[in-house]
Amino acid sequence: MRTKIVAGNWKMNMLQHEAISLISDIKKELKNRGPNAKNTSMIIMPPFTWIPAAVEMTSAEPAISIGAQNCYHEPNGAFTGEVSPEMIQSTGAEYAILGHSERRQYFKESHELLKKKVNAVINAELYPVFCCGEPLEVREENKQETLIKQQLKESLFHLDEQDFSKVIIAYEPVWAIGTGKTASPEQAQSMHQFIRQLIHDNYNDKLAENTTILYGGSCKPDNARELFSKPDVDGGLIGGASLKAKDFIDIFFSF
Ligand code: PEP
Repeated sequence: MRTKIVAGNWKMNMLQHEAISLISDIKKELKNRGPNAKNTSMIIMPPFTWIPAAVEMTSAEPAISIGAQNCYHEPNGAFTGEVSPEMIQSTGAEYAILGHSERRQYFKESHELLKKKVNAVINAELYPVFCCGEPLEVREENKQETLIKQQLKESLFHLDEQDFSKVIIAYEPVWAIGTGKTASPEQAQSMHQFIRQLIHDNYNDKLAENTTILYGGSCKPDNARELFSKPDVDGGLIGGASLKAKDFIDIFFSF
């Protein structure tokens, strides 16, 4: 059975005191709501600077893990300003988002660079949360499947079965990120099913069935339940709504 996950991508938000109070509020909300009957896992992805505090504050919370939003593809060296997967792993964080559309768009991250980052993250024993998704113009031309196939083929499908089993995929249509325009549950299901079929074709049925595929793009408390009810949607990567403890926890309990 694949794991259900609700992951919060804080992006470049939260000062130190705000980060600490958001995590405290998430823990309080979680306590108030009691155990998650669907065994959903939560990942919080703060900016690098708050990762050690986040790990420490959640170490006694079995449902919560911590991840990074990016990393470099070398383990160490003269790369001023970069952060390696090994550094992230040494804090106790377990995940790293790779290929978010904001990294592809603003920082020109290519398929080739993302392939190196995927390898580096797996070598450092972190789990990659690999984002794929199409811009609006690609959807308008109905070429979204061609693009998603290329994104996965060029950065992920070189992995062997054992390494691929560590990957979480997040389908995030670019036109839905931060815009308030969510993909319909049918659009999300159709793409998730397509991605699962690609995994089947490149690997096997077992890996396809076991891979967690998250939806991301304006997922909120009022639409999460319908999105998560689709058979191939295993949870969400949440941006804006992960910055409010109550909204994030409402989404966490939306299965
Ligand atoms: C994201 O940045 O990964 C995201 C899904 O953002 P939002 O939920 O704000 O659309």
